[in-house]
Amino acid sequence: MKWNEAKLRYDKLGPKVVENLKKRHFDAYYVSTKEEAIEKFFELVPKDHVVSWGGTCTVDELELKPMLREKGYAVIDRDEAKNMEERMDIMRKALLCDTFLMSSNAISEDGQLFNIDGNGNRVAAMCFGPKSVVVIAGMNKVAKTYEDAVVRARTYAAPMRAQSFPGIQTPCMVNGSCADCISKDSVCAYMVTTRVSRPAGKIKVILVGEDLGF
Ligand code: SF4
Repeated sequence: MKWNEAKLRYDKLGPKVVENLKKRHFDAYYVSTKEEAIEKFFELVPKDHVVSWGGTCTVDELELKPMLREKGYAVIDRDEAKNMEERMDIMRKALLCDTFLMSSNAISEDGQLFNIDGNGNRVAAMCFGPKSVVVIAGMNKVAKTYEDAVVRARTYAAPMRAQSFPGIQTPCMVNGSCADCISKDSVCAYMVTTRVSRPAGKIKVILVGEDLGF
């Protein structure tokens, strides 16, 4: 498929997925480009908010972390930790930030988010803690049905994510394919479906008409 065809499809489907997200009480927006996604993100986050984030390639691809610092936001960044104990403490503090930034491993066309997590900090923040959660996701994360979203996350996104942790010993790390492991290193310890944003509007979704992350 040529990129132009993908883009045409994204711009047709994206607004429909956003309508379905809104029915589920997400505050949702479709933007066509990465630049518009960055603009929308800063529109949604008040300047006095303390911002933190979960492990996400999408946020790195958009270079939002340095932009937050440049614009003077207070941030909670686990990568500033000097050791693992401090890192865990920072991850706990992040659960009480004002805005938590993340992506979603998959989104079904009917507007449900599906996420997989190893430590659970990212999905915990989605469920409770931060006043506001901003999810930025490329249209490549959209799957036809909820079941397709689970398959996407489990068989594609999770084995890809595992490659970011070279020290782990999981089947997907060894051969690239999910074997539904119960390894202590599993990056799939927690699997969370977000059917509805409760309270309404707490979770804001920016769906982007480009490929972002995996
Ligand atoms: S092999 Fe284990 S860690 Fe890897 S994707 Fe499957 S369940 Fe997750």
